[in-house]
Amino acid sequence: MTLTLQIDARRWRAHQEAFAAQVPGLVPVAKGNGYGFGLGTLAQEAKRLGAQTLAVGIVQEVDDVRAGGWEDDIVVLNPWRPSDANATALLADPQVITTISRVEDLRSIAVSHPTARVIVEIETSMHRHGLDPRVLTAADFGTLWFEGWAIHLPASGSLAEATELARAAVATRTGPLWASHLSVEDYRTFSAAVGVPTHLRVGTRLWLGDKDAYRTTATVLDVHSIKKGAPLGYHGVPAPKDGFIIVASGGTAHGVAMAAPVPQRSLKQRAVTVAEGVLDAVGRTLSPYTIGGKKRAFAEPPHMHSSMLFVPGADPLTKVGDELPVTTRMTTVVADEIRWV
Ligand SMILES: *Cc1c(COP(=O)(O)O)cnc(C)c1O
Repeated sequence: MTLTLQIDARRWRAHQEAFAAQVPGLVPVAKGNGYGFGLGTLAQEAKRLGAQTLAVGIVQEVDDVRAGGWEDDIVVLNPWRPSDANATALLADPQVITTISRVEDLRSIAVSHPTARVIVEIETSMHRHGLDPRVLTAADFGTLWFEGWAIHLPASGSLAEATELARAAVATRTGPLWASHLSVEDYRTFSAAVGVPTHLRVGTRLWLGDKDAYRTTATVLDVHSIKKGAPLGYHGVPAPKDGFIIVASGGTAHGVAMAAPVPQRSLKQRAVTVAEGVLDAVGRTLSPYTIGGKKRAFAEPPHMHSSMLFVPGADPLTKVGDELPVTTRMTTVVADEIRWV
């Protein structure tokens, strides 16, 4: 009675392999909810792909990918900060590569952990983390094991920007370049232009690039008929019509319907919902569940592990035990179970 992620193993892996073949120096990214697949699964897949290095988002994820069987080098993408004791402890780990994004952090680590493996992040037009490589001198690096420069571009990553930043960085100190968010074509041009080894850190395009390779399904747990006006759910809101309450697996704990349900995205609908209270939106708030070929309304907001849906009419169009397709956002969904098909 679970929310299930079904993976077509052959198809999923065929996409990964085709992508990896186009991107020499690919570094798979396994972070957060593991793009819906889980960090352990991605660690296994990265290993199977023959990746040399895996990237995680934060230091707490290092243990997760190791528990999944990853035994090689791990880059931590989020930059080190002095207040993070867990990140400081990993500076001594010979397989962990720490990202440094501030001059003062580079200088202090060069003193406190002179043999740590580090990547120095460059500030891009995204202005998230990073520094200007031109302000650094050889002394700032001390005896650190310099693994190269990171360039994290905005979504519409530009080849010209990446190349210009790379040249400035390599002029300061030569080393590999670790790019994020270049198109495959731009990355190949970039690699050929910069004259040092390159890597591309990729999550979404690698794991979620073939949308037909995976799908999320819920299980129907209960079906009840209900008359128009009869109270339903935790709050006793009246049923909008004669029809059926379908209780299906998948709720807030799974990240189902975390975003505003579809019709509420329009300002007019939001105004209606706010004015009348969310619960009055029964029968109007579209859920991500499909029953009888159509997305159905939530009967009330999702519970922790299940959701109540409403099907109007004389036929519930489903029965207990059926599997229902659910549209999920893969970067927030947490399935109970993976089924390889
Ligand atoms: C998350 C992340 C990536 C991977 O992003 P996708 O869009 O999922 O491919 C790459 N680089 C950095 C620095 C990241 O934080």
